[in-house]
Amino acid sequence: MSFDQGCALLHFSRNGAFHEGASRLLVLERGEGPYVFDTDGRRYVDGLSSLFCAQIGYSYGEEMAAVAGEQLSRLAFNTMWGTAHPAALELAQRLAEIMPAGLNRAFFTSGGSESVEAAWKIVRHYHLANGEGQRTKAIARRIAYHGVTLGALSLTGVPGYKEPFGPPAIETIHVSNTNQFRSKLQGEQLTRALLEELEDAIDQAGPETVAMIIAEPVQNAGGCLTPPPGYWEGLRSIADRHGIVLVADEVICGFGRLGEWLGSTRVGAQPDVVTVAKGLTSAYAPMGAVLVSERIAAPLYEEGRTLLHGITFGGHPLCAAIALRNLEIFERDGVLENVRAREGHLRELLEGLRDLPIVGDVRGAGFFWAVELVKGEPERRLDADERERVLRGYMPGALREARLIARADDRGDAVLQIAPPLIADDAVLEEIVEAMRIVLAGAGRLLGLGSPVAA
Ligand code: PLP
Repeated sequence: MSFDQGCALLHFSRNGAFHEGASRLLVLERGEGPYVFDTDGRRYVDGLSSLFCAQIGYSYGEEMAAVAGEQLSRLAFNTMWGTAHPAALELAQRLAEIMPAGLNRAFFTSGGSESVEAAWKIVRHYHLANGEGQRTKAIARRIAYHGVTLGALSLTGVPGYKEPFGPPAIETIHVSNTNQFRSKLQGEQLTRALLEELEDAIDQAGPETVAMIIAEPVQNAGGCLTPPPGYWEGLRSIADRHGIVLVADEVICGFGRLGEWLGSTRVGAQPDVVTVAKGLTSAYAPMGAVLVSERIAAPLYEEGRTLLHGITFGGHPLCAAIALRNLEIFERDGVLENVRAREGHLRELLEGLRDLPIVGDVRGAGFFWAVELVKGEPERRLDADERERVLRGYMPGALREARLIARADDRGDAVLQIAPPLIADDAVLEEIVEAMRIVLAGAGRLLGLGSPVAA
């Protein structure tokens, strides 16, 4: 197979790096279990599940193809605009059965950003129906990523992604995230401080003007930022006190990433609305959804009210049929159970990397982990030049050589992140962490840091 690597524009990439053969683009053409193979037949362990999507890995293609064939020959496409089709209706019902009690309405989309924007519109409908149209502001957290289409971008808390594109579509107040490693406070003290900051932000904005709070159960950008104890319970009570809708963005955390159908269950969150995508189909087809509680959805069923939102491909029958089979596979093949059973082992393996002087922190939950890079001491962060050299200069090549797909990121501080397919066994998890050790040790040498510190 031959193709010119210069015609496609890569997302969130320095396209110039690959232009006219400047450097060789990694082109992946085949998958098997937790592995992907490039066009030269080299095998990589997919330690990132293709950007947090490939929950069940790559070996269900034939089964999914049969599901797709069946659906396509019966009904290739129809919309959810005023009509419906069995696949999407069945999926909505199945989701209502497996999701936490009360989250029993589903609005289908084609992906994460669309889910986030649809959630915002559904929340606005709720407030408008209650005579509170003045609730036009959102609260999100710093460094959090909620998508980059123009509505979702307002909620995203990474300034560099926003500045070139003008004023945000949604007025959003960003508050601190739950970075425990970089906080002087810990545990319940940290929770109290974060919740006080949130209350202050709401007071300043005017509580009657705030429509929603959106947060991930474990925040991806910044490096798997887990919440301190009682944090989500606190969000719930603040939202209730001020009539604000609480939205959990589970585009990454949903569908097993934290060992539960929803990450919310794991962290004690009781959201009114949940956004999902990626793992809903394990990416065998592109699909997202907004899961809405009966209370928030109620006004949408009022006589004469129209839901002023729609997406042509939202709930596509092919995607819905694949999502249904994905959920069936989760249950049949014990996918959630696999994450729960192996999380402890993965944690131990990753904790073992702390002997490398470049490893300042290891954090995460389920199959969703980050290692934060430091210069030998926790308080010595990598500066911009070091991040450039290590994360963008060294890591892509080193990861490739170590045959590992993982994510080097510095939207917050410098981290190396993994999110293995949820079907990975102990041997695969060990292979991932071994490869991380090789890459991290090399990064340490690049920064002039010595050998592993003695235990
Ligand atoms: N929300 C979260 C938490 C995400 O991680 C992402 C993407 O990674 C999105 C929203 C946007 O999803 P998409 O890229 O499918 O539009």
